[in-house]
Amino acid sequence: MMINWIKRLIGLENKRKGTADVFCMMPWVHFHVTQLGTVTPCCQAPWQEETAFGNINRENIAQIWNGKKMAAFRKNMKNGVPDKRCEGCYEKEKQGFTSLRQITNKNYFHHYDRVNQTLKDGQIPGTTPVYFDIRFSNVCNLRCRICGPWSSSSWHNDAVALGMKSENAPAITVSVHNTERLFSELEGMMPDMEEFYFAGGEPLVTEEHYRLLDMLIKHGKTDVKLTYNTNFSSFEYKGVNVLELWKKFRQVNIAASLDAEGMRGELLRKNLDWTRVEDNRLKLLKELPHAEFTVSPTLNVYNLLHLPDFHRNWTQRGLIGVEDFIPTLLIKPNELAVSALTYTVKKQALGLYKKHLEWIAQQTVTKPEKYEHMISQFKNVMIVLNAKGDKNIKTRLKQHVNSLDSLRNENTLKVFPELGNREML
Ligand code: SF4
Repeated sequence: MMINWIKRLIGLENKRKGTADVFCMMPWVHFHVTQLGTVTPCCQAPWQEETAFGNINRENIAQIWNGKKMAAFRKNMKNGVPDKRCEGCYEKEKQGFTSLRQITNKNYFHHYDRVNQTLKDGQIPGTTPVYFDIRFSNVCNLRCRICGPWSSSSWHNDAVALGMKSENAPAITVSVHNTERLFSELEGMMPDMEEFYFAGGEPLVTEEHYRLLDMLIKHGKTDVKLTYNTNFSSFEYKGVNVLELWKKFRQVNIAASLDAEGMRGELLRKNLDWTRVEDNRLKLLKELPHAEFTVSPTLNVYNLLHLPDFHRNWTQRGLIGVEDFIPTLLIKPNELAVSALTYTVKKQALGLYKKHLEWIAQQTVTKPEKYEHMISQFKNVMIVLNAKGDKNIKTRLKQHVNSLDSLRNENTLKVFPELGNREML
């Protein structure tokens, strides 16, 4: 289905050879502020000042939106000139994976008129972004093994102990220094706002997230699509129950970053209470049946052999539909990436995933488009499992596991005994 949309987009493109391979709707619709305060093409592009369109602490949204750097990016996109910042998407597509570029082109195709209206220098006067992703800070209540202090304030002490950061550095990094100015600008852009994407830190324990919802509710702008990447650990924040706020919005999409069930999930995402996670899922089903819910696990060395069971179990218990489970492959750090595992381990996993895909094929599907997306993500997993591994990674994996185990007084081998297999650890 997605392919048809992309074909339509290609058909309407300016027909220059190669344009459709690099064209992305992001700069015509999207505004992304990183945890450094830099404004970049999207969450997948590099964060550094050198390659950013600007910095939200030096300029406002309007200045950056039609500033020289963002305009030049649009111009290149329109002319089919590849951009280094987008290499992540190009690389994914080359390997047969679905990229964020392809997903965005499909979701925001309805703004293609903006592309036609773009001035020669790449400016689009009279427009504002419609799709926002502002990372206000790294505030998070968990310290996941696949994460680090840049995305979670709770990681601070571990990071200091591991020599990853200085103890004098702050645990919390705030990306937007003048929130008053930002909120007042956002308020002015509300009429055209279509989507707000919230991710971490952890949005459900972030002050600004609640302020934004209050602002939207106050202005009756409840048709804005709220999209989340959340650890799904808590619905309560300073006496506010987020479910009560969500009930007022037409569209709430929740991608819950849950990697494994029970004590496996708790080991991977430190401070997580699995009983509470399941309770939250039941509450959401009961109180907000219109919310679109997806389990969004990050596939890594730890959970590789357990993901199919998790998927099957939640589907059979009626907590999700079969298509509401969309895994993403971890890329960094290398030592936790499935791609680095040896051939023997990959072969074992390959058999497991083949069987799982057979089980998936027998299930009832109610959301075909989402199903297609899920299948393409599982195919990505199969591609990686069929590719060569990296034998040298074992030492670093061992270091990672041992250092976190001793720091957190945990025993990974008790929870994931298969990692004791010589081929893995
Ligand atoms: S091509 Fe990919 S990296 Fe570049 S702006 Fe689009 S989604 Fe982001």
